[in-house]
Amino acid sequence: MATWIKNPLRVWTGTAENADGGIVVAGDTIVELVSAGQAPTTPYENSFNADKLLLLPGLVNCHHHFYQTLTRACPPALNKGLFAWLRALYPLWAKLDQEAIAVSTELALAELMLSGCSLVCDHHYVFSESLDNAIDIQLELVERFGVRAVLTRGSMSLGTASGGLPPEAVVQSDDTILQDSERLLKKVAQQTLAQLALAPCSPFSVSSELMRESAALAREYGALLHTHLAETEDENQFCLQRFNLRPLDYLETVGWLNADVWLAHGIHFNHDEIQRLGEAGLGICHCPSSNMLLGSGICPVLALEEAGVAIGLGVDGSASNDASNMLQELRQAFLLQRLHSGAEQVSHEQVLSWATSGGARVLNQHAHTGRIAVGMKADLALFELDALRFSGAGDPLAALLLCGAHQVKHLMVNGAWRVLDGDIPGLDLEQLKWRHAAAAKKLLA
Ligand SMILES: [Zn+2]
Repeated sequence: MATWIKNPLRVWTGTAENADGGIVVAGDTIVELVSAGQAPTTPYENSFNADKLLLLPGLVNCHHHFYQTLTRACPPALNKGLFAWLRALYPLWAKLDQEAIAVSTELALAELMLSGCSLVCDHHYVFSESLDNAIDIQLELVERFGVRAVLTRGSMSLGTASGGLPPEAVVQSDDTILQDSERLLKKVAQQTLAQLALAPCSPFSVSSELMRESAALAREYGALLHTHLAETEDENQFCLQRFNLRPLDYLETVGWLNADVWLAHGIHFNHDEIQRLGEAGLGICHCPSSNMLLGSGICPVLALEEAGVAIGLGVDGSASNDASNMLQELRQAFLLQRLHSGAEQVSHEQVLSWATSGGARVLNQHAHTGRIAVGMKADLALFELDALRFSGAGDPLAALLLCGAHQVKHLMVNGAWRVLDGDIPGLDLEQLKWRHAAAAKKLLA
């Protein structure tokens, strides 16, 4: 069954190709780009009128912690930098249970999808004795929501007793982590829209052995690797004191300076380190809201991109954002990078490319998503610019960022409508908010 998404107000394909007459989707795939004023040559059964809509590739979020939606604007963590912020929150996160994981995952997925995200990513690294199936719960939910996902089996193994930052209640042994990682790598091979990466949390919460062995295990299964790196000056000091190395040198010694790795943040790199990252082909997820909120610093996105690093965007958090809205994150990246490099250096289209094809490249999914082109999966976001804030806007594509869009009208993932008229069909948002608020209250109690 083919559908012509007909005559959009504007189409941004993410490539030099034009699709001003819309596109034809058959099954899960884009099969034709239609020129302005033309009709498709592919036979189609349905047409979908898009004449008031802006059509883009679905957005890609490369870094998040869904569970942190439960500790947003959390009193013990307000007005703190990263290390103090983490120390304030670890004791609350140690109380996460199955319901907390389920409801925070559902809420974050809903927020991301309603902001136009078709490929989501989560970095879950808090496990306890009573919570060893967090990723299993998330796998079930991304399947139910029908969204493309890269989930990660995160980990923390370096507690305070061994010189790390997290309390012992939230760390696991290297063996437990590796066994569970392998179990999940086998399990996820059965899923259609979800992939799994391994993601030891950070240099200050994971042993060097676990970094090395996670890399070996991920490579055995062809999975990606992910971690936080170069987020703050505190982390630089930690690495210099503990390893006598800067964070990137440490990463290299544990076998992670490689194209199968993407890093969250990537702020505190010097010129030489930026060149090494580019040569090795790593990806970096820029998280502007989190970096501004925690006062961590500014990621040198343009220099990294020029060196050959793949750039994606991530909402991070949500206790350091404190939202999961991908469109708002695009605007933050646009504003922050302009402030950092100058207005002429950063265009709205460049930011859109980080949030689509760039993110897809970071997550190694660029062969099938992140662009509107024939043969790509039908992951599409359609926006309507009829709110007060868009009135008078001359260029609809620029208006998306400049006027501060925050909501998608329709979202298609893998050929299926997952958001229609601003709603996720079958999802009771009121009930979800009620469950989520109850779970957040329980953590704070
Ligand atoms: Zn993070």
